[in-house]
Amino acid sequence: MIKYNLTCKCGEMFESWFSSSLEFDSLYKKKLIKCIYCGSSSIRKSVMAPNLFSKSNKISKKTKLEKNVRKQLLNFRKYIEKNCKNVGENFSREARSIHYDKKTSHGIYGKATLEETSDLIEEGIEVVTIPWINKREN
Ligand SMILES: [Zn+2]
Repeated sequence: MIKYNLTCKCGEMFESWFSSSLEFDSLYKKKLIKCIYCGSSSIRKSVMAPNLFSKSNKISKKTKLEKNVRKQLLNFRKYIEKNCKNVGENFSREARSIHYDKKTSHGIYGKATLEETSDLIEEGIEVVTIPWINKREN
């Protein structure tokens, strides 16, 4: 008996047993081997080692990039927390009072809805929206 990993054009992978590689070839030519998920006969033998290897390489590169972006966003967050005042939900009100009163040069950060943010921008108040990275996630 021979076991093959088969890949369907639908993206699913499954295993199938054949008495020999010849049996596989003949069934394959007659399109008698069907995907157990979608029933299609557009399947092929998988998985060649070099292919799998380059695939996993790509994944680790992507993870590395994600880690870098994450790190930068975390640093950005740390910088903001150190240099700006957290005003939480009062962000749009505080941003307005700073903009119009010019009382303080201190930066602030906090939460604002998309609508509030676009209102602020329309009024000419500089607002930057950044992805807020959670420190605990890793
Ligand atoms: Zn399929």
